[in-house]
Amino acid sequence: MSAQSFQIAVLAGDGIGPEVMAQARRVLDAVAGKFGVAFAYDEQLVGGAAIDATGGPLPEATLKACEAADAILFGSVGGPKWESLPPDIQPERGALLPLRKHFGLFANLRPSVCFPSLTAASPVRPDLVEGGFDVLCVRELTGGIYFGSPKEIREENGEKVAIDTMVYRESEVERIAHVAFKAAAGRGGRLTSIDKANVLRNGLLWREVVERVAEGYPDVKLDHLYVDNAAMQLIRRPREFDVVLAPNLFGDILSDEMAMIAGSLGMLASASLGGQNEAGLYFGMYEPSGGSAPDIAGQGIANPCAQILSAAMMLRYSFGLTEAADAIDAAVRGAIDGGARTGDIFTGTEGTHRVDTAGMGEAILAGLE
Ligand code: NAD
Repeated sequence: MSAQSFQIAVLAGDGIGPEVMAQARRVLDAVAGKFGVAFAYDEQLVGGAAIDATGGPLPEATLKACEAADAILFGSVGGPKWESLPPDIQPERGALLPLRKHFGLFANLRPSVCFPSLTAASPVRPDLVEGGFDVLCVRELTGGIYFGSPKEIREENGEKVAIDTMVYRESEVERIAHVAFKAAAGRGGRLTSIDKANVLRNGLLWREVVERVAEGYPDVKLDHLYVDNAAMQLIRRPREFDVVLAPNLFGDILSDEMAMIAGSLGMLASASLGGQNEAGLYFGMYEPSGGSAPDIAGQGIANPCAQILSAAMMLRYSFGLTEAADAIDAAVRGAIDGGARTGDIFTGTEGTHRVDTAGMGEAILAGLE
């Protein structure tokens, strides 16, 4: 029987993107060998690199390669060189947002994981994060106040008035709620839904639909928090959360708060998921939560863990390769527990040693053998 084969559009982008992507490729090649699957990589330009070569941040060839692929593995885009370009052709706005829109990537999953051996990197009081934590933020990505219309600044009675409109349809809440409940069912079995039902009509509908969807997941324990309270509770007791489900605006803010309390951007993966096929697998785009880190780009010292963990999410959500994904997660944890630290997570704790990007890749590969 021929090996299962997957096509990956590889968009490394700018800054540290190509450096950390190279390590993710090494890890993917290693798991392909170990688990008897094949990955075909289609490398394409995106962001500033694409602007320099073609004049635009998302060339037609890149979009075509993504359409032909089973998933997109994305690095990061942007940097000072392109910051003064008109907004619509800037790397982030001109590449990331169109990709999300084109592929209908409505679900953003951001794990906020603080390994027990990395709690010193968290800015939260040690007794609150002792033993580490693992929270998954599921953010609705294509609806809500970022997309509703009217969206404008107009003149009224001699002064400017800014208007943004928050709109959620039942179907939009329902589909993101299913993603969150399924994720919770496969992990700790707890889901906290975030809204502002005490003030917003959107919150009332959000809560009503989430409760309806919950009936299909009797093994998941659901609770609700108002977003202002959630912002406090996540800092006060991060270990007690499992999956957090939030509308676009609240998820944008809370997921950054959660990234911060976990300690380092260099450790945090993300997935943006679109439609599901009949096997329950999603088309998705997988990328580190951080950006192109121009301050350390080109030095070979960036932390590749976020990129490697994003590749593991790709195996889990788009390819259904759960064992291979688990193996990568375990190998990253093993490398950290073994003391390997890139500069961003190096605190000088006893038993740790500083490594560069390739060194962290090697420590992770060693764990896969
Ligand atoms: P950033 O995430 O690039 O960097 C913030 C800080 O975190 C920097 O000190 C950086 O060195 C550090 N950092 C981030 N990832 C790291 C890693 N893997 N290893 C070690 N350290 C890491 O955010 P920024 O400085 O605000 O933005 C820089 C550029 O990236 C901008 O052009 C911005 O538009 C772009 N950006 C892109 C994305 C994306 O591609 N999805 C996301 C955020 C920012």
